[in-house]
This record gives sequence, C-alpha cells and structure tokens, in this order.
Amino acid sequence: MKNLIILGATGSIGMQTLAVLGNLTNEYKLTSIAFGKNIKRGIEIINKFKPQFVSVENKSDCKYLSELFPDIKFDYGLEGLINASTYDASNSYQTVVVTALVGSIGLLPTVEAIKKGYHIALANKETLVTAGRIIIDLIDKYQVNLLPVDSEHSAIFQALNGEKKAQINKLIITASGGAFRNKSREDLKHVTVTEALKHPNWLMGSKITIDSATMMNKGFEVIEAHYLFGLPYDKITTILHKESVIHSLVEFVDTSVIAQLGTPDMRIPIQYALTYPNRFVLNNAKSLKLEEIMTLNFQKLDFTRYPCLHYAYEAGKIGHSMPTVLNAANEAAVHLFLTEKISFLDIERIIYEALNNHILIKNLDLDTILSLDKEVKMKILTLKGV
Ligand code: MN
Repeated sequence: MKNLIILGATGSIGMQTLAVLGNLTNEYKLTSIAFGKNIKRGIEIINKFKPQFVSVENKSDCKYLSELFPDIKFDYGLEGLINASTYDASNSYQTVVVTALVGSIGLLPTVEAIKKGYHIALANKETLVTAGRIIIDLIDKYQVNLLPVDSEHSAIFQALNGEKKAQINKLIITASGGAFRNKSREDLKHVTVTEALKHPNWLMGSKITIDSATMMNKGFEVIEAHYLFGLPYDKITTILHKESVIHSLVEFVDTSVIAQLGTPDMRIPIQYALTYPNRFVLNNAKSLKLEEIMTLNFQKLDFTRYPCLHYAYEAGKIGHSMPTVLNAANEAAVHLFLTEKISFLDIERIIYEALNNHILIKNLDLDTILSLDKEVKMKILTLKGV
C-alpha cells in the first residue's frame, strides 16, 4: 500500500489519475489533494475519496470547505499547496505525488515533496523546463523516483526498459501537430482561441492545448526528455505523426528501433507511472486496432513552420537561465492569447523577444529561478496592461 497525493486534482490529468485510482484501491490511498477554483468538482472528489488534507487556491473557498467537512484539514494558497505536496499521513507507507499542476507554480511543491522523500509522478513538465538541473540533482540526492506521466516520455521509458543509456542512438518524440497542423503560416495570422483549443487527438487542459498548437509543447518535451533520460539535445529528435498511435520511439546503436503504441488514452501512462514495474488491467481501455488504422503518417517537423520548437531547442542547448525564460515568457504569452489580448502569432514573437533580451544567468539557484520567472511574466503582462 502507498499514499497518493495529487496536485491539480480537478484538472484533466488529475481527474484521469482519480479514474485510474478507482482501479488501484488495494495499491493506493489518496491522502492529500490540491486544486484551484473548481469547488464543485473538488467536493465530489472529497466525498468519493475522503482525503485527509485538501488545499485550494483561495482563503474564502478554504473557509467554506472547512465548514462543510469538519473532519478534513484544509489550507490555501502557495503555502497550502506545499503543505498538500508534503502531507504526512503518519503511516509507514511510501508516498507518490502526482504533479499535475499547470505551469511553474508546480516547482516549489515538487521540490519540497522530493526533500520529504516522496516519489514524483511528473505530469507538470514546466517544472523540468524551468528548473531541470535542480530537480534532477534533488532526485539523486534524496534517492526518490521521478516517473514520467507525459505519454511520449512514458513511451520512451517503456522502450528503455532493461536497455543501457550508452547504447541509445537517439530518441524520436512524436508530435500530433496540434489544432493547426493543416494550416500555413499565412493562415495562422487570423486563428481564434476557440479554433486553437480544438486538439485533433487529445482532450487536455487549455494551456497545453495552446502549447500543442504552437508546438511549444513538443519543445518542452524535448527539454523534459533531456533531463529525464540524461541525453544531449543532438540525440533527441521529433517527428510529426498525426495519428498519435506511436507515442515515441528509441533508436539504439545497432539501428534497431523500439516504439510504444496505444490508443490516445492518458490513463495508460498515468497508471504505468503508478504501478511500475507492474502492469494492471485498465478498465474500459480500448485495444489498438491496427487493421482499422491501416496507415500511419510521418512528416519532418519544420522549424520555420514551428519556430517555438526551434526556440525550445536553442534555449535548452544554451541552458542555465534560458529555459526558465522560455517557460515564463510562454506562460505569460499563452495567458494573453487565451484572454484575447494578443493574436496567435504574437505568442512566438513575445517568446523570441524575451529570449533575445535575456542576459544569461549562470549557477542558478531556486530563488533566482523563482524571481526570474516572476520578472519575465510581469514584464510581458504589464506591456499588455494585465
Ligand atoms: Mn505529451
């Protein structure tokens, strides 16, 4: 038996983790959760899973819930989030934290959970983008597991089972192409938020859906793979694969390639992260019917069509504070796009300017990352009067 903590419980990954948890009642007990403002959904989760600790975004929601559930401990804000991620159920079980928050807000709670000796099932890729080196060093220092929930990284992780890192030729990360894969650069000038939110294959939260449309999501996944698997950027490649059937591939030195395939169902990588190295039956999961799919398509990912992917590679290779700026500028720009303050193509322009104007900071520590993150976001948001 293990304790489970979910940060971002009411979001897309959080809800799918809870769906998986219904299947793992002999393996996990949900002890603590954090969520934002979706109080209705939060109450449903509390009633069903009876966690001991709950943190929300606002003080008023915290007070309301405390009166509704007098036997549960509630908290709020960043402090509450950290208390949720380090919640001690006072038993001898191991604890796994599913980090399914959106954005760099996930950084501090992840750091504190690692320091507490908790294992991390990582769905919050921004944490690795903004502070990859620090997270990996902490994982080594505290000897905890960092298991990928992202479907591409889960695929690579599965393909690498029993293999040696030194014998990897390259990783091949697949990309569905997002909402605008059939549009030209010219078409992109006038696309709307509603159009950008229609992902062809995956049903996800709004921020990651926009990141998929700009291809920044794939760029982040390249950086995520660099830290998770400890490989240089020239060994991490990407390819457009619109069916989302192959979730990623690994080529070894003998040119043999191992891929992981499956229907686009996030419960598969979530469950694998929670049950590794075991596999469990997944309720209502659909078998892949290759005879119905018949054809799989692949296409080179063009950096001029998808500049955000290019910026992510460049920021990743430069390293130090550059990926922090990349992530912060992207978060601010996506927020501005989602609130209809800027156009779709402004997102990449804002990110380019932020990277271009940044003076590299070396020997980064956590405080520098947090203040740089804040500074970059503020600068972009105040320009647009937000
Ligand atoms: Mn992914």
